[in-house]
Amino acid sequence: MFDPLDPLGLDDLLTDEDRAVRDTMRRWAADRVLPHVAEWYERGEAPVRELARELGAMGALGMQLTGYGCAGATAVQYGLACLEVEAADSGIRSLVSVQGSLAMYAIHRFGSEEQKQRWLPGMAAGETIGCFGLTEPDHGSDPGGMRTYAKRGAGGDWVLTGRKMWITNGSVAGVAVVWARTDEGIRGFVVPTDSPGFSAPDIHHKWSLRASVTSELVMDEVRLPADAVLPEATGLRGPLGCLNHARYGIVWGAMGAARTCFETALDYARTREQFGRPLGGFQLTQAKLADMAVELHKGVLLAHHLGRRMDAGTLRPEQVSFGKLNNVREAIEICRTARTILGANGISLEYPVMRHATNLESVLTYEGTVEMHQLVLGKALTGLDAFR
Ligand SMILES: Cc1cc2nc3c(=O)[nH]c(=O)nc-3n(C[C@H](O)[C@H](O)[C@H](O)COP(=O)(O)OP(=O)(O)OC[C@H]3O[C@@H](n4cnc5c(N)ncnc54)[C@H](O)[C@@H]3O)c2cc1C
Repeated sequence: MFDPLDPLGLDDLLTDEDRAVRDTMRRWAADRVLPHVAEWYERGEAPVRELARELGAMGALGMQLTGYGCAGATAVQYGLACLEVEAADSGIRSLVSVQGSLAMYAIHRFGSEEQKQRWLPGMAAGETIGCFGLTEPDHGSDPGGMRTYAKRGAGGDWVLTGRKMWITNGSVAGVAVVWARTDEGIRGFVVPTDSPGFSAPDIHHKWSLRASVTSELVMDEVRLPADAVLPEATGLRGPLGCLNHARYGIVWGAMGAARTCFETALDYARTREQFGRPLGGFQLTQAKLADMAVELHKGVLLAHHLGRRMDAGTLRPEQVSFGKLNNVREAIEICRTARTILGANGISLEYPVMRHATNLESVLTYEGTVEMHQLVLGKALTGLDAFR
């Protein structure tokens, strides 16, 4: 039988465990996020600490990592979790991504045994929130130009000074992974946010990701012990490895936002009547719905394919760029088209489409803009570097 919500039968690709993860996350999002998210969005604040603890209790933070209290899930299961959370709101998915794929992943992949033991169990449980400071006011797409710097003191300790911008979870974080220039090149630092000289003022007046905390990180001669540096990360390879992991989650997540908008538009088109019949009965509306369904399910199929490659250890960064570029670009297009089908109701917070469309404006920009991923693919296709 043809299922309008799964026209390609992609459910067949999932194992029973995959379905269990998907259903758990979908139920949580339905119970804990959907009833409140429009209000959080309107107020520009969400109970991030509470949500983090709930996500931690479900094993959704650092889900794909092993040991230290992490769930050790597959890449496909992590992707399904991102999709279900982002089907509710991209801001809440950002909390999951930054915690698990950026802050925890950085410590898990590049940290010392002591750093892992100290931070990861509390982060997996959602008791400690992490943030990831790479972007600066004058260096976004080009983080290699960063100005934040760390100097070694006489006793081997470090003094960290600089500013980071647009940092998700910044003011609610107990620990920040901060990337800084040093005499040895770019290094990562694990910074307790109660360190003297560290502050994280929130960024206000956002019209996107309003249910997510975004902050500046200000570091004014923050003194850190010698062992605050991530021993295994040298150069930009460190932060870029973390970004690759987070981008992978976004490949799935964006399709969650798109799915909600598609389903809302489909439902609306079946019931709203103009000129004496449902909007869905007009050929022009059907063309929109058909195109939306094609891009939505192609995107999910692509995410699944990349997930299997990640689980097999064969996923390349260029393939993650392929997925992020396509899926976020198509997701935002689906949300914008859904908005047109809803007419004036499309701009109201009573419906989720405008919230998702404006959220995706951030998702389109963070974790590498469209142009950065085009340049990554362009370089891989031609062998020519066009970044500068
Ligand atoms: C809500 C939100 C949350 C975020 N969370 C985090 C976080 O937790 N941690 C973090 O470190 N950062 C975070 N970011 C920052 C994000 O990663 C950056 O905004 C992003 O990398 C782009 O940098 P920029 O905004 O400085 O834009 P710029 O780099 O100034 O780019 C502006 C435009 O110019 C284009 N451009 C730049 N260079 C080229 C080129 N060579 N060729 C063609 N076009 C080019 C870009 O594609 C873009 O369209 C967040 C951003 C937002 C909006």
